[in-house]
Amino acid sequence: MTKGRFGRRRKTEGKSDLREGEHIAVGKQKIMRGAGFIGCLVIITAVCWMSSFARADERVKVIVSICPQKYFLKKIGGDLVDVSAMVLPGGSPHTYEPKPQQMVALTKAKLYFAVGLPFEDVWLKKFADANPRMVIIHTDAGIAKLSMDETQHHDLENEGHSEGKDPHIWLSPALVMLQARQILVGLLDADPDHAQVYMTNYKAFITELVDLDLKIKDIFSRKTRGAAFMVFHPSWGYFAKAYDLRQIPVEVEGREPSPKDLANIVRDAKEMRVKVIFVQPQISAKSASVIAKEVGCRVMTADPLAEDWSQNLLQAAEDFAGAL
Ligand code: ZN
Repeated sequence: MTKGRFGRRRKTEGKSDLREGEHIAVGKQKIMRGAGFIGCLVIITAVCWMSSFARADERVKVIVSICPQKYFLKKIGGDLVDVSAMVLPGGSPHTYEPKPQQMVALTKAKLYFAVGLPFEDVWLKKFADANPRMVIIHTDAGIAKLSMDETQHHDLENEGHSEGKDPHIWLSPALVMLQARQILVGLLDADPDHAQVYMTNYKAFITELVDLDLKIKDIFSRKTRGAAFMVFHPSWGYFAKAYDLRQIPVEVEGREPSPKDLANIVRDAKEMRVKVIFVQPQISAKSASVIAKEVGCRVMTADPLAEDWSQNLLQAAEDFAGAL
C-alpha cells in the first residue's frame, strides 16, 4: 500500500515532471521563435553596419600633420573625407615621431596635407615610401614665411640663432585662407565627382575666416597696436603680425633659456610690464613659472594646436588682449 502510494506519488510526480517538460518545450519553442526574430534583427543590423562601413570606405582617406588642419579639412571636405592627424592631441610637432600603427594607417590614405613643419622634412619621404600612391599636398605653398628672427623680437646677446623659417602658419586666418585653397585643389583632384560640395564648403569656410579675422581685429583695438605679449614657445608670430602685436618668446632656439638668457628675459619682461606669460599644453615650460615669479606675473595657457581651431583662436585673442 505504502509502496503503491509511493509509486502513485512518484507517478504523479512523474506526470507533473512531464508537464514541466512540456512547459519547457513550449517555452523553448517561444524562445526559438524569439531567437529567430532576434537573429533577423542581428542580420539586418549587421547588414546596415557593413553597408555603413562600405560608405565609410568610400570617404576620401586623408592624413594631416596637426589637429588644426583636421578642422580645415572637415570644413572643406565635410562628410566626404575621413581625416586623421599625425600629431595626436597633447603631442608637440617639434618632437614628433610617428607611431608604428600610424605608419600602417598611412598606407590606406589617399591624400596627405603637409603644413611645412620641421618633422615633415624628415618624415614625408618615409611616408611616401610607405604609400607611393598617396598624393602629398603642401598647404604652405605660396606662403612667404617669416624667418624666426622676424617673429622673435628678442635682443639676446648670443645672437646667430635659428636661420630657420617660422612654421606656425595655421594661426593667422589670412594665411589659413591660402592653406584652404591648397586643400580645395587637393580634394578636387582626388575626388572630382564631389567638386560642387567641396566648392560650396570652401566658400563657406572662407566666409568663416573673414568673419573670424574681423572679430579678432575688433578685439585688438587701436591702443594695442605694437603691444607685446610674452609666450614660452614662439607659436604666435604670424598671429602677432596679423594683428599688429609683438611676440616675445622665452624659448631660445627651441630650448629652455640658459640662466644668462633668463636674466635678460626677466629684465625685458619687467621693462614691458608683462602681466602674463603664455604657455602651451604640449610643451613643458619650467622657466615660464620661474620668470613669472621673478616678474610677478601670471602664467596662462594659449593652445596653438587645438582642433576646435576657430573658437580657440578667438579665445586666445581675448586672452592676449586681456594681458596687454
Ligand atoms: Zn611650435
